[in-house]
Amino acid sequence: LTRNLDHTASLPAETTDGHRVCLLVNTGLMADVVRSRERGAEGVGLFRTEVPFLLRDRFPSEEEQREIYREQLECFAPLPVTMRTLDIGGDKSLAYFPIEETNPFLGWRGIRVTLDHPEIFLAQVRAMMKASQGLDNLRIMLPMISGLSELEAARKLIERAYRELLEEGYAINMPPLGVMVEVPSAVYQVRELAEHADFISVGSNDLTQYLLAVDRSNSRVANIYHALHPAVLRALQEIVNAAHAAGTRVGICGELAGEPGGALLLVAMGYDMLSMNATNLPRVKATLRAVQQADMQRLLQQVICMDCAEKIESAVNAYLLSLG
Ligand code: PEP
Ligand code: MG
Repeated sequence: LTRNLDHTASLPAETTDGHRVCLLVNTGLMADVVRSRERGAEGVGLFRTEVPFLLRDRFPSEEEQREIYREQLECFAPLPVTMRTLDIGGDKSLAYFPIEETNPFLGWRGIRVTLDHPEIFLAQVRAMMKASQGLDNLRIMLPMISGLSELEAARKLIERAYRELLEEGYAINMPPLGVMVEVPSAVYQVRELAEHADFISVGSNDLTQYLLAVDRSNSRVANIYHALHPAVLRALQEIVNAAHAAGTRVGICGELAGEPGGALLLVAMGYDMLSMNATNLPRVKATLRAVQQADMQRLLQQVICMDCAEKIESAVNAYLLSLG
């Protein structure tokens, strides 16, 4: 089986009737990067830049960051690498930047922290853009966006950093800028966000947590955390419809994209890009290559009107079993 899956590394991710999707990887450490290339990833859909920050005992300097980012960009060039700006807070806190709150997942997290600390944000995006010189495969993505004003504020800072780097003599291009849709308020503003961003990527881990009001890291409620909940699936469908209506490509980088059943439903909904852990990529590709688009769409139509996650999960599992 392993040999068969390895063999798919060079084959396209397409259904038996030729519907092609882009399979990307989520990375954090350099080890992920090397594995991903071997498995035929078409780029990085989510580089969690907080990982190198979590491994240190102080903020990495702009130059240290530039080196880390350069390594990732070089390893994938000319394929795109989507770097998410620092997403700390929630369950990810830095020992040297403690955040103490009663409700961390509803508190100072992601873009909220970096817009309040533009010096952290500017150092990071400067390092990313410096690292992209001569490669031009960088994409920047913003976490925890809850409305248009955060996107606009972040864009102003990135444009400022870009202008300063040009003045300093760097030969770089302004990278495409994307927004993560993972806060419920963003679901209802996808149209506007998509008109102002170059791409949209859904963070289904957080979106599930916030839509269902279930802490993703609390084992006591893990049994009611369902990415295949009908409310989540309907939100995922509306996001892709709204993004496409604005002419913007849309991907997803939560765990759901790396599950064969989840991937089938997402492709049936119209998602253009699925980003997942390298480990899951061969299995997802093999599943997509075994089905027809019309079959996935029938499965989606069948499950999206079901009334609970358990029924959806068993229908999806039955379908996967029928594929053999
Ligand atoms: C998500 O929320 O789905 C996501 C991809 O980001 P993270 O898991 O890092 O919050
Ligand atoms: Mg998230």
